[in-house]
Amino acid sequence: MSYIGRFAPSPTGPLHLGSLYAALASFLHAKAQQGKWLLRIDDLDTFRNVAGATQSIIDSLQVYGLYWDAPIFYQNQHLTSYHTVIKQFLEQNLAYPCSCSRKSLAKQPIYPGYCLKKQIDADAAHSLRIKTSDIKICFEDEIQGQHQHSLSAQHGDFIVKRKDNIIAYQLAVVVDDFRQNISHVVRGFDLLDSTPKQLFLQKILGYPSPAYCHIPVLIDQQGIKLSKQTFAQAISLDNPEQTLYLLLTLLKQNPPANLKTTSVENMIQWGIKNWHPSPLKKLRAINQGIY
Ligand SMILES: [Zn+2]
Repeated sequence: MSYIGRFAPSPTGPLHLGSLYAALASFLHAKAQQGKWLLRIDDLDTFRNVAGATQSIIDSLQVYGLYWDAPIFYQNQHLTSYHTVIKQFLEQNLAYPCSCSRKSLAKQPIYPGYCLKKQIDADAAHSLRIKTSDIKICFEDEIQGQHQHSLSAQHGDFIVKRKDNIIAYQLAVVVDDFRQNISHVVRGFDLLDSTPKQLFLQKILGYPSPAYCHIPVLIDQQGIKLSKQTFAQAISLDNPEQTLYLLLTLLKQNPPANLKTTSVENMIQWGIKNWHPSPLKKLRAINQGIY
């Protein structure tokens, strides 16, 4: 099987150090195995999209020498494919409408199945939940090792279409990974918990499952993950060599000192040639301030 990897940012702001870290890891992991690397823009949540963010992400990836191998895939241009799957779920009685408010579920870490047997007025606002079964989902993550989740007990019936009609992340990812023939998913540890849900959806849809590799997330001095929600700074495009060297260090690739004074292209080539993810084994977070 040929290797096809991907990076799938949402255009809710510019890339920050943490997102570029994940992009670089997935790129190097693909290229070290002569794979293809695709760019998918996760722009389904139109309420959160920020004007200009997609272009800013594209510009940043290019400045950092991370080039994709196929036309960019925009999720918003593929709405029919998600709705076809939703229709299939409903026809096969695999999903059901839920009218619960966020407030009414605030104290419930796992959805308790309130609407499973309720008759919901089709005109009233409702989300759609997939029926999970009491099965164990096991997977071997290349970095994080073996994981086993009990689907109903740990995740419950989860949302595949939101009340505001937006396709949920879990479903969109599964449909797109299948459409784009993704063989390897390399992404941050914070998404490890989504993996059992995605494996379950792949199973009921009859899709093959990609290999998973969850790399640590970057955290700040306070131990908080760098993210748009915590106002992580946009990466600078002024001195990409310096940032790239830092990222290779944070990926524990041990770049030689003389690489610091070379070009972005050379650094990327060095990164591909020397890529070895094993020093990241079992690491969930890396403090970006330690270097
Ligand atoms: Zn409900």
